[in-house]
Amino acid sequence: MSERGTKRAAHAAGSTRPASGAASQTSFKWDACTGCGTCLASCPVLRLPVDEAKREIRNLIDGKASKVLTKCNTCFSCNLHCPEHANPYQLILSRWNDVYHRRGAPPLYKFVCPTSLPNIWQVLNLFLQEKERRWIREWMAPGRRPSPGKDLLLVGNYTHLFPFIIGGSKLLDSFTPVDLIDQWEGGAYLYQGGYLDVVSQIAARTKRDLDDLGATRVVSFLDAVQYIYTVVHPSEFGVHHGQEFTSITSWLRGQLETGALEVVKPLKIRVTVHDNCYSKAIGAELWDGAREILGRCGCKVVEMEHCKADSLCCGFGAGASWKHNVWIPFKIIREGMKKFAEASRTGASALVSYCSGCIYLLWATRELLESRLDVYHLVEVVRMAAGEELDYPRDHVGRAWDVIAIITYQLVRSLLDRPFRITAITYDPGRSTFRPRSHVLLRFIRALLSFRLARRFYARLFRLMAGAGKLVFE
Ligand code: SF4
Ligand code: SF4
Repeated sequence: MSERGTKRAAHAAGSTRPASGAASQTSFKWDACTGCGTCLASCPVLRLPVDEAKREIRNLIDGKASKVLTKCNTCFSCNLHCPEHANPYQLILSRWNDVYHRRGAPPLYKFVCPTSLPNIWQVLNLFLQEKERRWIREWMAPGRRPSPGKDLLLVGNYTHLFPFIIGGSKLLDSFTPVDLIDQWEGGAYLYQGGYLDVVSQIAARTKRDLDDLGATRVVSFLDAVQYIYTVVHPSEFGVHHGQEFTSITSWLRGQLETGALEVVKPLKIRVTVHDNCYSKAIGAELWDGAREILGRCGCKVVEMEHCKADSLCCGFGAGASWKHNVWIPFKIIREGMKKFAEASRTGASALVSYCSGCIYLLWATRELLESRLDVYHLVEVVRMAAGEELDYPRDHVGRAWDVIAIITYQLVRSLLDRPFRITAITYDPGRSTFRPRSHVLLRFIRALLSFRLARRFYARLFRLMAGAGKLVFE
């Protein structure tokens, strides 16, 4: 895409920096950038010397090759470090969009594309428990509309993978949950990878969906969705939604503050908090909100070396800066391992994520690392403190190995595949995303990974390959 085209894809809206300390809600400001390099020198992943940082930001501005595009974890921190509030993060996204135009998406990315087959939502149907099928059928029922007096809860693509996080909970009594997989979380994870043209189509599609549903107030299970609907869609793609949006984290905080939700069983555990990449776009509302909720639930919060504005990614973002398709899963898990190393150093017994996107990779990483650290979604902590019983960790461990099996299967299949373009955003129920074929190889891999010995062997092999792959691919 030309510079003018990139500017068009990323045109700016407002210009004020939120009082919370979160990033300014705009796209890259070409005229504001002084080329000082502070953004890349402060980056918790790249940590470039200032002179190199200046060269690399110049390369990005000029549309030249840059190591940022092959090393960035799309964590959002650079926006918070820029003294001119120029939004270098959005410059990186627009350059990835250029790369996507030239090269396409890596074959493995079909994993998270509900319109490409096989994708994780399709093949996971082979392994869902009966209770999960029941919840999902209800949430996806055609013609479902918010009941009077109830907010719409956007369950979202990620929670669909872990429906037990919220399924069957009393918390759902306040909502009409709706699960629309081809809303792609409003385009949140595509935006992080720089697939800006696709996000633009999703913005228009979700506006139609939400208007048709007759929703007035929407609570998103994925916090990132709040930012995408209220900031990215209007400011970058000119799509203005008429609904009021809030996140499940802010909703829970409100319920605990007003006493609508009571803590009957304080947990009395030491926890550390994973601040996800999108939380940096929202700031204190999520950072402090999550910690306040944990405190009210009886948890003592201890912080990791990198938290809040400098938090490290769960690993998912490492896939955005891909060079070699085959290396993507190893690169992602390697980044996740850094998070576990920091979390373990705090002495906490549990790592808590308030992002349902991060939770599936954190659990996969935990199993591949053979870590004993508990990993909870914030909603699970609240449910336990409210006296609800969870089937923890059984549900999570089983699902983590489902996910690992699916990643392995997709990796094997993608070896013969070529980069692709996302040509459709709406899936065809006739083909279908929800009626998987037999996938014999996947069933075989999953069956093998039911055995403890096979899991231990695979986890060690994976870690070995992650180490060796670094030497070959980076
Ligand atoms: S984006 Fe900001 S921090 Fe980065 S070089 Fe430009 S002015 Fe400096
Ligand atoms: S998004 Fe994060 S990893 Fe990427 S350059 Fe900015 S600070 Fe570094």
